[in-house]
Amino acid sequence: MNHNVYAEIGVSDEVYQLGEEILATLKDRFDAIDQTAEFNQAKVLAAMQKNRVNASCFAATSGYGYNDVGRDTLERVYADTFHTEAALVRPQITCGTHALAVALSANLLPGDELFSPVGRPYDTLEEVIGIRESACSLAEFGITYSETPLLPDGSIDFEGIRNAMNPRIKLATIQRSKGYATRPTLSVAQIGELIRFLKSLKPDIVCMVDNCYGEFTERVEPSDFDADMVVGSLIKNPGGGLAPIGGYICGTQRCIDRCAYRLSAPGLGQEVGANLGLMPQLYQGFFLAPTVTASATKGAIFAAAMYERFGFRVVPSSSEDRHDIIQAVELGSEEAMVAFCSGIQAAAPVDAYVTPIPWEMPGYDSQVIMAAGAFVQGSSIELSADGPIRPPYAVYFQGGLTWCHSKLGVLMSVQKMLDAKLISL
Ligand SMILES: *Cc1c(COP(=O)(O)O)cnc(C)c1O
Repeated sequence: MNHNVYAEIGVSDEVYQLGEEILATLKDRFDAIDQTAEFNQAKVLAAMQKNRVNASCFAATSGYGYNDVGRDTLERVYADTFHTEAALVRPQITCGTHALAVALSANLLPGDELFSPVGRPYDTLEEVIGIRESACSLAEFGITYSETPLLPDGSIDFEGIRNAMNPRIKLATIQRSKGYATRPTLSVAQIGELIRFLKSLKPDIVCMVDNCYGEFTERVEPSDFDADMVVGSLIKNPGGGLAPIGGYICGTQRCIDRCAYRLSAPGLGQEVGANLGLMPQLYQGFFLAPTVTASATKGAIFAAAMYERFGFRVVPSSSEDRHDIIQAVELGSEEAMVAFCSGIQAAAPVDAYVTPIPWEMPGYDSQVIMAAGAFVQGSSIELSADGPIRPPYAVYFQGGLTWCHSKLGVLMSVQKMLDAKLISL
């Protein structure tokens, strides 16, 4: 009996069958995602071929890491994929927040203002900026902050931005993904339009895009539309699940030079930073990233369709275009968040036996629940779900190194919701 294996991992026949019914409606969407993956695969492949990636790129270096061919070539591969002049791609960048903090603090000076034209940025940036007080924040260095919220429908408030412009604004931070908010994710086209508008108001403004979770979900990136920097984490999309640590900043030579000076030290810049033997994973992960991103995107759409079926508000809906891999499901209660996350946890290859519970996580201002049984700790390109315990009690589902795994995760979450009698078939 074919289905025994599903029972073995905890998925009942009813839930499996429902999944098949939902899946039958998604075929055309999945075909389009595969085409995007193929396009992006070609883009990465072309960058690797152009830069003559070869076995010497995979050698480990230590110490200062002078003349590190693997590291320097990887940075060229990233720059060519994102169509930028330069890139900083390092295991010494510890996470996405770190990459963003480097990009901001390198390109803002005391007296400058940082501006967010798309509302409040991601939770962990609040302390980086000093919106929530923190030692070493930009605010402590005399860098002020202002923002223009998105309009109630999630669109960009161009008039508000025009009125908010002031001579001290030096850098605009644009977050592509929704983060822990239920606003729509911005498309690359929308970001491009925003950058064009900002530069028409202020030609020398530096536009930085927080590209976390967006990489390879479309055929273009914000750097194709004049972003001065695009920034992200290697334990999300571009690491392809294989990178064990790291962050990237791709952008203009001028911005990247400053980022490198900030990351290491003035005068040293990109010349130092040993690769510590991580190059095989960083290259191979980047090579796999387009298809891994596609798997995660399919999982997100499947989750949207399943939870729509039970009447929950999902952002985006199962039929909307996708610009990141995140699926928000508004579950309406802490109990339902715990059940959903228990299902994701139970579907993991690692730590499947543990029960996720809400906790105070560094950098976040409310309790957070997190389900993750990942090979790389906290990796959210791997199947995971998390969310802050606050209304509307939305859980953010993302990842899945393979579509099959992502699908099983969604089925398990539905199973746990059913078992807890929070939904019925
Ligand atoms: C994940 C994320 C970050 C921060 O990345 P970490 O690696 O968790 O520090 C920043 N912005 C957005 C939109 C993110 O999704």
